[in-house]
Amino acid sequence: ASEAEEKDLVIIGGGVAGYVAAIKAGQAGLKVACIEKRDALGGTCLNVGCIPSKSLLNNTHLYHQILHDTKNRGIEVGDVKMNIQQLMKAKDTSVTGLTKGIAFLFKKHNIEWVKGSGSFVDEHTVKADLVEGGERLLRAKNIFIATGSEVSPFPGLQVDEKRVITSTGALALEQVPKKMLVIGGGIIGLEMASVWSRLGAEVTVVEFLGRIGGPGMDEEIAKQTQKILQKQGLKFKLNTKVVTGDTTGELISLNVESTKGGKAETIDADVVLTAIGRRPYTSGLNLESIGLETDDRGRLVIDHEYRTKHPHIRVIGDVTFGPMLAHKAEEEGVAAVEYITKGHGHVNYGAIPSVMYTYPEVAWVGQAEQDVKAAGIKYKVGTFPFSANSRAKTNLDSEGLVKFIADAETDRVLGVHIVGPAAGELIAEGTLAVEYGASCEDVARTCHAHPTLSEAVKEAAMATYDKAIHF
Ligand code: FAD
Ligand code: NAD
Repeated sequence: ASEAEEKDLVIIGGGVAGYVAAIKAGQAGLKVACIEKRDALGGTCLNVGCIPSKSLLNNTHLYHQILHDTKNRGIEVGDVKMNIQQLMKAKDTSVTGLTKGIAFLFKKHNIEWVKGSGSFVDEHTVKADLVEGGERLLRAKNIFIATGSEVSPFPGLQVDEKRVITSTGALALEQVPKKMLVIGGGIIGLEMASVWSRLGAEVTVVEFLGRIGGPGMDEEIAKQTQKILQKQGLKFKLNTKVVTGDTTGELISLNVESTKGGKAETIDADVVLTAIGRRPYTSGLNLESIGLETDDRGRLVIDHEYRTKHPHIRVIGDVTFGPMLAHKAEEEGVAAVEYITKGHGHVNYGAIPSVMYTYPEVAWVGQAEQDVKAAGIKYKVGTFPFSANSRAKTNLDSEGLVKFIADAETDRVLGVHIVGPAAGELIAEGTLAVEYGASCEDVARTCHAHPTLSEAVKEAAMATYDKAIHF
């Protein structure tokens, strides 16, 4: 290797956490290198996560709506067909456009993308094994680890991304499976189940817990969501675990068992999607050489300023604590740089929204009712159904509700939970309310345009301390 090059900041990983930190640091005039081994920037989110999944969700929803929800609107359509190849091409075009956009922003801010795998040589030196061959040594005043996460494997089922797939395979199937079994009814499971079910697959979701949605979703909202998704044709087996799988036959055969001691049964499927969570990814970093350790869940341990025990080495995104979400990774990327350039940064972990992009969407921020209850907090609930919202009714799209949870004494907004049209956009108002420590009355006394879906948010807030007008 040649002599080490000097940088102000070296970032390992060009996902959302890493690329956002790189841009923020580049804007502040730091000399930055970002080491990314993938052939495109943007990490999981842009390449095999948020973006391709939303492309498939959007376009399959449109297809499903054209098939099932046009006649009553006075729209008569002829022969409707899905061209899977074109569906995938549209997805790839979205991904490429966005990843190239980041490469452009890197150039604009004089950030060097080092194409290769990064590993520690010592506390201040990172080696990049270059994709094109050879290596480079980078010496840095500051180093960020932003290496993200990977799929948690399901023991006993070997992934081939054709028949036994992860989310990555589910974003690229070449044909619609006849029967699909999804292990895990969390966000990935339900988003991907929706995509393939809309295209005609018979989908069964097996979930270990007694409710769908993964961690954080309000139980009442999860129940409502399950009902809506069942009407769309998804089948659920809750309180159920997959015990073994046999992939030797033409169909994959899975033995499932009730977690409550019921009898076992066998389910056959053409394709099995394993979606039981993701785990931090640190392999190949040579963390031992600098004495850094991970906790029992594989997460790199940091303090409130993202510092490891070597204060100039910081960790951001999926590879450390907190929800594995792109916008959380982005906030941390900005804050970690601000700690260097300004001495202070800010992320409010109590106000990070979650969105599940099924149809309708499910979105929430703050605490769920079951959490508030478990914490022994005195609280009030206000709900408002979209079936009483004029815009939702006019749009013939009125399934779902908005739910506010407020502190019983102070009326402060503790949580906002929505299942319904545009929930993912509407939750921004709830997030702002939680961030600003607003009361429900603050939200309800704010004038909302008519007729909009956001009036359901206003009226749910009103329902915590008074009667809603339209329900
Ligand atoms: P990553 O995006 O995983 O990026 C880490 C990068 O580091 C990778 O590109 C990897 O190649 C690189 N890397 C790792 N080790 C090295 C090394 N040693 N040297 C060089 N490079 C290295 N979140 C949302 O908020 N909204 C969504 O809608 C959403 N949808 C998702 C859908 C799916 C199917 C999946 C799987 C995830 C989704 N997520 C979503 C989660 C989101 O993708 C992650 O939270 C986000 O990507 C985390 O960003 P990150 O930068 O921490 O890690
Ligand atoms: P998840 O944690 O959301 O859900 C996993 C589900 O699998 C849980 O409900 C869990 O109870 C269940 N499960 C675990 N083991 C099981 C078993 N043996 N049998 C049956 N069920 C089992 O994880 P995920 O859906 O894989 O998603 C991974 C990460 O990616 C999450 O952190 C999520 O936030 C992120 N992501 C976010 C979005 C989004 O924001 N829209 C989309 C996709 C992924």
